[in-house]
Amino acid sequence: MICIPITAGKKKEALHTIERSCRLADFIELRMDLIEDGSLAELISTARNSSGLIKIIVTCRKKEEAAPAGGTAGIKGVGKKTIDRKIALLKEAIELGADFVDIELAEGRAAIKELQSFCAEHRGKTKIIVSYHNLKETPALTKLKEIFHQCAKAKPAVVKIVTFAKTAKDNLVTLSLISYARKHSPELISLCMGDKGRISRAVAPLLGNYLSFATLEQEGQSAPGQFTIYEMKQINELLAGERTPSVTVLSTSTPQPQNYILLGNPVRQSLSPMMHNAAFKEMGIEGNYCAFCVDDLGGALQGMRAMNIRGASVTIPFKVAVMEYLDDIDDDALKIGAVNTIISKSSRLTGCNTDWLGMILTLQEAMPIKGKTFVIIGAGGTARAAAYGIMKEGGFPVIVNRTPEKGKILSGKLNCPFYPLAEIGRIKADCLINTTPVGMYPKDKSPVKASALAGFRYVMDVIYNPLKTKLLADAEKQGCHIFSGLDMFVHQGAQQLRLWTGVEPPRALMKKVILKRLTQIE
Ligand code: NAP
Repeated sequence: MICIPITAGKKKEALHTIERSCRLADFIELRMDLIEDGSLAELISTARNSSGLIKIIVTCRKKEEAAPAGGTAGIKGVGKKTIDRKIALLKEAIELGADFVDIELAEGRAAIKELQSFCAEHRGKTKIIVSYHNLKETPALTKLKEIFHQCAKAKPAVVKIVTFAKTAKDNLVTLSLISYARKHSPELISLCMGDKGRISRAVAPLLGNYLSFATLEQEGQSAPGQFTIYEMKQINELLAGERTPSVTVLSTSTPQPQNYILLGNPVRQSLSPMMHNAAFKEMGIEGNYCAFCVDDLGGALQGMRAMNIRGASVTIPFKVAVMEYLDDIDDDALKIGAVNTIISKSSRLTGCNTDWLGMILTLQEAMPIKGKTFVIIGAGGTARAAAYGIMKEGGFPVIVNRTPEKGKILSGKLNCPFYPLAEIGRIKADCLINTTPVGMYPKDKSPVKASALAGFRYVMDVIYNPLKTKLLADAEKQGCHIFSGLDMFVHQGAQQLRLWTGVEPPRALMKKVILKRLTQIE
């Protein structure tokens, strides 16, 4: 069962989210510490009118246990409500017929008992959830078992234990608690918050977790690491081996859902899930693309082999490290020395690189490559992919890098010139390409001085957020033709989809989706 927490600060937005959530989820959780100007009666009646089946949890989270998650309306209301006001509000929820009220173990036995007695007086329709949240870490399993028993002592209907994952191993602790608690009485919700806790959110339903929490939109998380309701449903279907009626094909060879992942650390900022999922929808492919923040790369690839995952994108910092875990590496990726795409077939993992093609297709749309000279700032994975593509197309790369040793190693391998970054003003060439992360949102920086740009006709930045970096703005002022990393991002993603599915992806739509999101961010 899936619950969408309602976290909107303003009543109008909260009511709108309730209506939409009730059509999609089994539960909603009214976070009364965040909904500042909503009357509980109106919120509950809106939910009941939207769905006869919806279950309602009313929560007024303690300040110390409320996770500040990206994209929520903020946690302005938290802490304002004293324990007396909080108990009064939860009693009102019981009178209004909420299905559950949530009270933290930390509020004390007396508060929990008071609510239980009040529930009994009101024919026991409302059930109690006793919860524990640790926003800093995941305590050891023995400690969590103790906490579980402390919560269970009050005989609530459900115990909820949520901790913060500092490492991927923390997921194992919260998942082990589910298996342990199944032998005992109250139902349990046990999971880890944070990007590294996403594994627990995906796997917990399979082990019998009472409830999963998901967001309506990517931006509306009430705790970090939450999946959207659509992702959560797909994960549940995948793990249960079920198929939704809308996609059941009456044939002996029912196609399997196609699932893909992004492996990186961090991955929160990535727009790849948005782009690939929009493409799948347009392509009529039943599939899902999900980002995983990885600590243990070997473990993640082992998991990928074991599960029905058809492919992966690989991003910072794993593009080189991933190579040792693969069965095959294609010729381009081998020559570049970096992999950004994995294809999984019959548990064999093949590494490819689509960054170089993304770069070349972008350059070709703007200028000829053959016979032209390209100054590449950087000596990392993207610089190698750029130089490889440029040489393959008959162009001449020149490497410029902050750390001379690294730059010289790359230029030595490519047999091309090298200049230290400080000397870039001395160079004249057809095109300058920035492959460093300098200038990425939110930092308004450029890897080179504006005056050094006069020697270039074209300037490209591989960064696409912001669309116009300081480097590109400076170059434009110097009269250079400029292009951002957006087209490269879309091209490399489209090539990944081609490799995974064999179908031509909707590139225009992919670009539109990303452009819209970037414009919103800006
Ligand atoms: P990487 O392997 O870590 O290489 C980064 C390079 O940037 C290194 O050569 C490093 O120089 C240089 N650098 C880092 N900070 C610097 C600074 N403050 N001043 C000067 N130079 C600096 O990273 P990567 O995988 O190549 O990725 C680089 C960027 O490309 C990232 O921002 C990534 O998001 C972007 N990218 C975009 C696309 C796209 O589709 N648009 C595709 C791939 C990558 P040192 O050698 O001195 O450390």
